[in-house]
Amino acid sequence: MPSPAAAKPQPKPAEPFLPFTRPSIDDETIAGVAEVLRSGWITSGPQVKAFEAKLSDFFGGRPVRAFNSGTCTMEIALRIAGVGPGDEVITTPLTWVASSNVVLETGARPVFVDIDRATRTIDLDRVGAAVTPRTRAILPVDLAGLPVDRDRLYAIARGRGLRVVEDAAQSFGSTWKGRRIGAFGDFVSFSFHANKNITTCEGGCLVVNDEREARLAEQYRLQGVVRTGYDGMEVERVGGKFNMTDVAARIGLGQLPHLGEFLAKRRDLARAYFEEFDRPEARSLGIGLPPADFTDSNWHMFQVVLPEERVAIRRSGVMEQMHSAGIGTGVHYPAIHLFALYRRMGWKEGDFPNAEYVGRNILTLPLFPAMARDDVSRVVRALASILRKHRKP
Ligand SMILES: *Cc1c(COP(=O)(O)O)cnc(C)c1O
Repeated sequence: MPSPAAAKPQPKPAEPFLPFTRPSIDDETIAGVAEVLRSGWITSGPQVKAFEAKLSDFFGGRPVRAFNSGTCTMEIALRIAGVGPGDEVITTPLTWVASSNVVLETGARPVFVDIDRATRTIDLDRVGAAVTPRTRAILPVDLAGLPVDRDRLYAIARGRGLRVVEDAAQSFGSTWKGRRIGAFGDFVSFSFHANKNITTCEGGCLVVNDEREARLAEQYRLQGVVRTGYDGMEVERVGGKFNMTDVAARIGLGQLPHLGEFLAKRRDLARAYFEEFDRPEARSLGIGLPPADFTDSNWHMFQVVLPEERVAIRRSGVMEQMHSAGIGTGVHYPAIHLFALYRRMGWKEGDFPNAEYVGRNILTLPLFPAMARDDVSRVVRALASILRKHRKP
């Protein structure tokens, strides 16, 4: 006779939780970090220099400096460009709040321009009308790694004498007409935060135009200090504490050789998402898909826009049910102008309807190099089933 325990139905083995992103760091890199830790030199030193040299090669020889975040690289670019109190900087309301916070940090005012609903990035058709005599720079954001049209962007900037600070935090490895983002243009800022396509845990880099700007970037990076000879030290401007550690740089050096393979994997998974969303069960639900760009985008994220007019469930409910199904999702991002800080400065509901709609309904689905094709089917099946259950009559 079977024992009572054996007669009980066995619990179904739970599928492992699928996060929306996860870094891939190989053993060689981990060993390299251990070596740095044992070397006696753990903050900015030879690894940072080596990482900067590799990044400069990657960006076609342009000067590059590494920092401890992507955020500070944008603030420093604005400072090098001379942006300060009384100035305006044009940007998108649908981005990580860092993009506009850095403008406030300099004492300037962000000027938001609504997004294009299809690309979810700044609507370049509307930028011209936002330019005033106070405008000093445009700060576009390559959301999800999809590059903003660089030809049109630089035509607008040149025509009006504006600087550009590209928030390319998400577009490391993306291209524009066959050229790498960062290999051309004005200031180009990248982040190596844990969620980005290439990581140093935390970190970032700034591509500048010449050695003069590179020297200024170094001063803003570390207390404004300029060293000469063995004991010479001078300070002429206020700088912060934004230097990258050698530990972080060693991780970055271990990540770079994998970029091509990471990119190929992300593209394959993005293609799989389009295939799954094209099945009849999913297609009829009205889910908003990203542009199917397999030329320029690095597929930093795969984001859908939930069809709020068709379903009686809000995004938070969808996220909760996805979580119960063992699937992580994210929100990138709510519209910035509706945050309390920004409302106090005068922005309100209705100012940027496209960013508000997308900000309310956008949902980031799992996408990272170690994910499997089957995970994509599982995600789309779970999402479609939740939306079908809550479809309005
Ligand atoms: C990640 C990110 C940043 C900031 O990068 P940190 O390294 O976290 O400071 C800025 N803008 C966008 C669009 C980002 O995704």
